[in-house]
Amino acid sequence: MPRARTVAVVGAGAAGLVAARELLREGHAVTVFERSARVGGTWAYDPRSDPDPLGLGAAVHGSLYASLRTNLPRELMGFSGFALAGRVFAGDPRTFPGHGEVLAFLDAFAVESGVAGRVRVRAEVVRVGAPLAGQGERWTVTWRGEDGETEDEEEVFDAVVVCNGHCTVPLVPKLRGIGYWRGKQMHSHNYRTPEPFQDQIVVVVGLGASGVDIAREISSVAKEVHIASRYTEDRLGKVDTYQNVWLHSEVDCIQDDGQVRFSEGSAVAADTILYCTGYRYHFPFLDVEGLTVDDNRVGPLYKHVFPPKHAPNLSFVGLPTKTIIFQSFELESRWVARALSGRAELPGEVAMAAAVDEDYRRMEAAGKAKRHTHALMPDWVEYMDWLAAQVGEPPMEARRREMYEKALRCIWSLDDSYRDSWEEEEQQEENR
Ligand code: FAD
Repeated sequence: MPRARTVAVVGAGAAGLVAARELLREGHAVTVFERSARVGGTWAYDPRSDPDPLGLGAAVHGSLYASLRTNLPRELMGFSGFALAGRVFAGDPRTFPGHGEVLAFLDAFAVESGVAGRVRVRAEVVRVGAPLAGQGERWTVTWRGEDGETEDEEEVFDAVVVCNGHCTVPLVPKLRGIGYWRGKQMHSHNYRTPEPFQDQIVVVVGLGASGVDIAREISSVAKEVHIASRYTEDRLGKVDTYQNVWLHSEVDCIQDDGQVRFSEGSAVAADTILYCTGYRYHFPFLDVEGLTVDDNRVGPLYKHVFPPKHAPNLSFVGLPTKTIIFQSFELESRWVARALSGRAELPGEVAMAAAVDEDYRRMEAAGKAKRHTHALMPDWVEYMDWLAAQVGEPPMEARRREMYEKALRCIWSLDDSYRDSWEEEEQQEENR
């Protein structure tokens, strides 16, 4: 007989919602704590930005810009049994819809999966405490209502699934010579619209999906846009398809005359440095000995999900990046749900810890920086297939894998037209 457990889920973004669905399906009793007033997390566009342009206090959760459209096609952003493709949720049928469409999809998912009734909104988890000696396996969750006037409340659960999102607290590299910088600095967490960059010379640091989107958008109003990235070596210089966009290698330093100098040797006098350099994992509420975030590595975690010492009762859903995100949320969630019920067997604590060490050793041998521990490239399919095997599912279809890899190539091409020409190209591919 599968064991039914009481489970607290922290966060009602896409990860928390699908985690709750999988837990409910497995027969667990679920409470989802969500500190904002609604479900959807990241996809609830928030026009506010943080008072600190680098967002180091990160009071605002959301990091979406007003114009944001998905960087993956709808087909890669649904859940099994509840697709984003084939149905329109907020009047935006495009293959790469705007954020409002994804938010409406998540709203509908929450309702139709029965999860909505399990979500407690305006309930911020302020502490998750590991079981104390003599307490059995029970985890204490302390939460606070939004009004801040009522006392914090404590509840105990058999298990906690952490889904608090990881695109809120900016990761800002410390540039050499930054003391000489006299212009503005901002992190993409706080970017909403291009207008403030009118006629400016802007250095965009980072060439991920946000860096590409934002650089492109800013180029429509700015005087010059200079993108700095370590992934540009084979295409340095002016970008053909734009009047005013240049690709550079990494920022080497800020010179003593205040110019931004790039590793290939050129320098530019800029008005703003805009960091599109990603985010830090942050779990201010976790009070669990031995679990750390070190150089953006959350660990030790077995397969990015379970801390060996506390598996399966403490888990993390949604840490991996550079994969088909919604699908990895779902597979991880299903694995967690089954590990809790006893239908998926985990290795013992020692074996899991050894596997984590082995993974770290392999990463080091491959020259992968610690801070990229949860970025799954290049082994993303291996990870997804491994998860699928844990829950008795087949490996990823080649079509999905190809679609994802094509989307990545499109993002890095700097050519925005892929979003609107995708459908037609897919059709042509099929006819060939
Ligand atoms: P979130 O959506 O951040 O949800 C976390 C939730 O936890 C939030 O609702 C938050 O309020 C809540 N929370 C946090 N702390 C607490 C607490 N202490 N107590 C209670 N609740 C708490 N992914 C794609 O697949 N396709 C895309 O096109 C895409 N574009 C993106 C564009 C941008 C600019 C960004 C920033 C991300 C993008 N992503 C994209 C990745 C996106 O983050 C994921 O798709 C996904 O929605 C993240 O879901 P999540 O549930 O992990 O986190």
